[in-house]
Amino acid sequence: MAVSCGVRAALSSSSAIRKMFEEGNSLKARYGADKVFDFSIGNPDVPPPPAFYKVLAGIAAEKTTGVHGYMPNAGFDFARAALAKKISLEQGVECPAACVVMSVGAAGALNVVLKALLDAGSEVIVSAPFFPEYRAYCANHGGILIPVPACPDFELDVEAIAKTLNANTRALIINSPNNPTGRIYSAASLDALGRLLNEHERKTGQLPFIIADEPYRDIVYGGLETPQIFPRFRNSIVVSSFSKTLSLPGERIGYIAVNPGSDEFTLLLDALIYATRVLGFVNAPALMQRAVAQLTMERVCVDIYEKRRDAFIEVLDAAGLEYVKPQGAFYIFAKVPEHDNKSGGAAQDDIAFADLLKRRLILGVPGSGFGKSGWIRFAYCVNEEIIRSSKNAFVDSVKEWENGAS
Ligand code: PLP
Repeated sequence: MAVSCGVRAALSSSSAIRKMFEEGNSLKARYGADKVFDFSIGNPDVPPPPAFYKVLAGIAAEKTTGVHGYMPNAGFDFARAALAKKISLEQGVECPAACVVMSVGAAGALNVVLKALLDAGSEVIVSAPFFPEYRAYCANHGGILIPVPACPDFELDVEAIAKTLNANTRALIINSPNNPTGRIYSAASLDALGRLLNEHERKTGQLPFIIADEPYRDIVYGGLETPQIFPRFRNSIVVSSFSKTLSLPGERIGYIAVNPGSDEFTLLLDALIYATRVLGFVNAPALMQRAVAQLTMERVCVDIYEKRRDAFIEVLDAAGLEYVKPQGAFYIFAKVPEHDNKSGGAAQDDIAFADLLKRRLILGVPGSGFGKSGWIRFAYCVNEEIIRSSKNAFVDSVKEWENGAS
């Protein structure tokens, strides 16, 4: 047997997002790119800010000996210091450079953090719907992801989390702004979660870690802000990247920042640096560390995404689809309409609805992959024109669905 049982099983339930992305590419080859409404993957098309190209040209010309060599596993000191300044401002807590470990994107950061924190069977709570890769990332390190359904408006359900928390809970992943809903968890719900964890510590002597996955922190609309994590949670780690805020997902550059007040801070940092090495990352890409160290105040033009969100809402309204208005990120999560199927029962089958949309060349990802069936995610990292021109296809698809097609 060439492939392990675990990977064999994982392959058979392989990523719905990647599958749709690949189908989108073949549909585009067949019908032309402008004919396919590909809302499948969060691959940003908004260009990086002009400063990125300027900085890149400067560092590409650098020929000092060792410029492309190994470095400490945590990353260049100057990059860690630059990121620490940015994080101190964002989090409202003074963070020295020692708090930061440079990573291979947010995905690499999450794997490093989970490797450092989890024992076999450790539980990690997440609010559902959630980014599907979390399940695999936890399993990579012997952990178990425990989804807890969010409130109907996708806010954290702190009471439900309270019922799930137990002696085996090692961490909670908080992803805000959220993929797939675009929800920013409110300061009030984070405060309530903080109180819950403190109470849990008083009772059990254990304070689980908050892992705040924040690649969309700066992609927020209407003057909203993503609430701070460090002042609310003593044991907390922020992971992030420049994949979305600088539109650099292929460059694989991100970071981990540990709250300086965390328990066993020095040991935890040593563990993160060790995990970076032994997971085979060794260090984050050198060229990109140099680049982002100079670009900490830059970000893509968020207005473009906000206009697209508004355009998408017009399309969904025209089609009569329900959704929760996104406050950030670049995803919209819509409810699959009630559907009188031929057998007479009402069904909310997100996979069948995604298939029906695909017949009109609309690609979205069924919510079941995100732990919320009966919903569907659309990523609006595509030209506003494509969003607007998808209206008729959406309207017709919903009519067909409501008439009982599947
Ligand atoms: N976390 C969330 C919520 C995401 O949506 C993504 C990517 O889409 C990642 C992590 C991984 O980001 P990166 O490309 O920086 O590894």
